[in-house]
Amino acid sequence: MAPKNRFAEMLPEIAGWRQDFHENPELLFEVHRTAGRVAELCRSFGCDEVTEGIGRTGVVVVIKGKTDTSGRVIGLRADMDALPIIEQTGVAYASKVPGKMHACGHDGHTSMLLGAAKYLAETRNFDGTAVLIFQPAEEGGGGGREMCADGMMDRWGIQEVYGMHNMPGIPVGHFAIRPGAMMAAADQFEITVTGKGGHAAKPHDCIDTTVVAAHIIVALQTIASRGVDPLKQVVVSVCTVATDSTAHNVIPQVVKMKGTVRTMDFGVQDYVEARVKAIAEGTAQALGAVAVVDYTRGYPVTVNAPENTDYAAEVARAVSGQVDTDTAPLMGAEDFSFMLLERPGAYIFVGNGDTAMVHHPAYNFDDNAIPFGSSWYAGMVEARMPAA
Ligand SMILES: [Zn+2]
Ligand SMILES: [Zn+2]
Repeated sequence: MAPKNRFAEMLPEIAGWRQDFHENPELLFEVHRTAGRVAELCRSFGCDEVTEGIGRTGVVVVIKGKTDTSGRVIGLRADMDALPIIEQTGVAYASKVPGKMHACGHDGHTSMLLGAAKYLAETRNFDGTAVLIFQPAEEGGGGGREMCADGMMDRWGIQEVYGMHNMPGIPVGHFAIRPGAMMAAADQFEITVTGKGGHAAKPHDCIDTTVVAAHIIVALQTIASRGVDPLKQVVVSVCTVATDSTAHNVIPQVVKMKGTVRTMDFGVQDYVEARVKAIAEGTAQALGAVAVVDYTRGYPVTVNAPENTDYAAEVARAVSGQVDTDTAPLMGAEDFSFMLLERPGAYIFVGNGDTAMVHHPAYNFDDNAIPFGSSWYAGMVEARMPAA
């Protein structure tokens, strides 16, 4: 039976797991209930190996094919964590935890991969080993980084790794992917400008940090407009400006600015980091103040290897026939990037139809996407390690 037909049959069961996860959202690494349920279900499916506590609360599941003459190992990844959002969907299975919500559809990803686990453990119609990765803390905690840091790729001998995310705005049953950069690197910076505070009527006795900060903000715009090749994507946004004064007649001693940098290219990322520092420090110095820049690299750029992108698109085509292989990259970031730094692979969008965007209180995962997502996961294993 084709995976898609089998998953259409399994849909009520998989949607049941999904709605249970949805009612019980957990944040970051605190996904104890979810991870416990994942491990319990995978054991009940007869998976060969279920290891908990990788990357703190991640779960790694091994399913062996009927044969292993190929010696190949394919990794599939889903994320398990929710967001600190107050749900406004009004669905019957809405979050029972105040202030927490599965607003990014990770309940759907986990359930679709569980569906694939059940199917693969039943059929084992492949020659090699499937390693299913259920990661915590995608939403800012770097759970994928932690699982890699625990030596996951070497310990299970993973050779290629594939990930998926649902995407509102893409019809259910459609897929979208692109080779190369698919999601941005997201870095953050904090600039502290120190001058000389004082009476606002006596600016000549002060070094006005607000004026220095304003010059820095304007000068930072030249990174995107003058510095980076216009054909390469970059975002430099100053998002917070705070002074140590709340008065209208005091020149503040200190101004702090926070912002984000999004890039799609490792070279551009290095360039922007250097320029943010040089512009802030140099502008402050020119105006008699001192700027200290704290620049932190977050999730790296998510890069799809061209060959693996083709494999992923081919399986998606077999599942749905509707695959956009030139989808626009997004300036959001994705923790799966850490796995793609260690192994070749690809990351694909599965359509979630006409719903609110992810991270919105009214976002709703569409269970009709489940047969497509589960089929793609299972299909990657069967296609990359065809039965001998
Ligand atoms: Zn998210
Ligand atoms: Zn997400």
